[in-house]
Amino acid sequence: MKRISWEEYTNLRVSDRIPYLSKPNTDNEPFHVLYSQQFTREMLDHLCALADKIRALHKTERGGDLLRSTLRNKNALNLFAQPSTRTFMSFLMAEQKLGMEVVDIRDVSTSSQAKGESLQNSIRTFSSYVDAIIMRHPDAGAAELAAYEMNMADRRIPVLNGGSGRDQHPTQALLDIYTLTKSLGEIDGKKIAMVGDLLRGRTVRSLSYLMKNYEDVELYYVAPERLRMADDVKDFLKRSHIRYTESENLEAVVSIVDAVYMTRIQWEWDRAAGAKSPDAGEYDPRFVFRKEYLDRMKKRSCLLHPLPKINEIDPELDYSDDPRVVYWRQERNGMWARAALLARIFDVDRTIMDSDDD
Ligand code: ASP
Ligand code: ASP
Repeated sequence: MKRISWEEYTNLRVSDRIPYLSKPNTDNEPFHVLYSQQFTREMLDHLCALADKIRALHKTERGGDLLRSTLRNKNALNLFAQPSTRTFMSFLMAEQKLGMEVVDIRDVSTSSQAKGESLQNSIRTFSSYVDAIIMRHPDAGAAELAAYEMNMADRRIPVLNGGSGRDQHPTQALLDIYTLTKSLGEIDGKKIAMVGDLLRGRTVRSLSYLMKNYEDVELYYVAPERLRMADDVKDFLKRSHIRYTESENLEAVVSIVDAVYMTRIQWEWDRAAGAKSPDAGEYDPRFVFRKEYLDRMKKRSCLLHPLPKINEIDPELDYSDDPRVVYWRQERNGMWARAALLARIFDVDRTIMDSDDD
């Protein structure tokens, strides 16, 4: 790995950072997983097939034993310095399904950072004991700094971004792709609405970037004026010739699109900035998925949500047996998609793909 200063590195565009995050001697295959832009179509298709295979193997005792043997000699640190339910649980279960031993730190105030140790030094220390670090942090660049530190220290330990501030959530985007593929058959040619807090939601940002891997996709961004998708993503879409429209009218798009991806209004950012009560947008019915909208959606379509949700989907839909309501399945898919990613990073995917699942 070529040496580069942190300053030089962070002056690079994301596309130019990718070689520093890749497995050596590969065509930029992800090693550290920080940005959804690191995934190619080939890799996404492979990870979806691998997730299916892991799920099938897991149904039998023999398959479960085989999976647990694949990464039995590896251990992982789940370092979550920001609230998390699903990402934390699903990474933990994914790691255990592949036989990894896991330690977690959920409160950084119990680590030496409370004594003033730098994040780099803490990461360097953690890396003496583990083979992978999964990291969620409120600062957008923290996981990247950890990956950089691993490169500089020549510790070949992958850092996986489990949510970086408002910026990205690449493994969520991976499970969203897995869910969309399973629900719609394919993503090429599909129309996808993303609704809610597109400005502060990192899941919709990461998912938007992944659309460059699919043919003829059209995005419908539906958000309150002040929470529209940020320009960096829109510029990327323009450069990648991906069509998108922006509106404030969910009702008008539900019958047109193949997928509706709802998100909550992330009120915590306003609170942190001193706001006293939720903005009207939080309760704005224009950004709520009403029960009757499902009747207007196409026969083959799906309703997704990265969760947690607040009031942006009619709660009655939580118990719907309509196959288009997929957000609970989407949540479970996170475990399989994350297991697939770990298997690929540690090069045990072939063993898994080549084994019998009956
Ligand atoms: N979808 C989020 C996650 O994956 C929800 C949460 O943090 O609870 O972690
Ligand atoms: N759970 C997702 C995330 O961690 C979405 C959210 O928090 O609303 O980004």
